[in-house]
Amino acid sequence: MKCPECGKDMQAGFLQTQKLVAFNKTRHKISLNPEDDKDVMIARKAFTGTDFQGFICKECGLVVFDYKNGMSRF
Ligand SMILES: [Zn+2]
Repeated sequence: MKCPECGKDMQAGFLQTQKLVAFNKTRHKISLNPEDDKDVMIARKAFTGTDFQGFICKECGLVVFDYKNGMSRF
């Protein structure tokens, strides 16, 4: 995959998290749980972790991954 920012080849791999990951419209101060219908809880497994197949650009720092197809690590 080519980086949408700089056009260079991106490196394939896995974005791995051990905790919750949320993409929220505004920065929540305490809980990451959705407060707005635009908020997305990306990784929900606080104890087992979640892995996402994706691509990274080490030039720009951009990471692209499919948040709907997360895999449980255990
Ligand atoms: Zn790039």
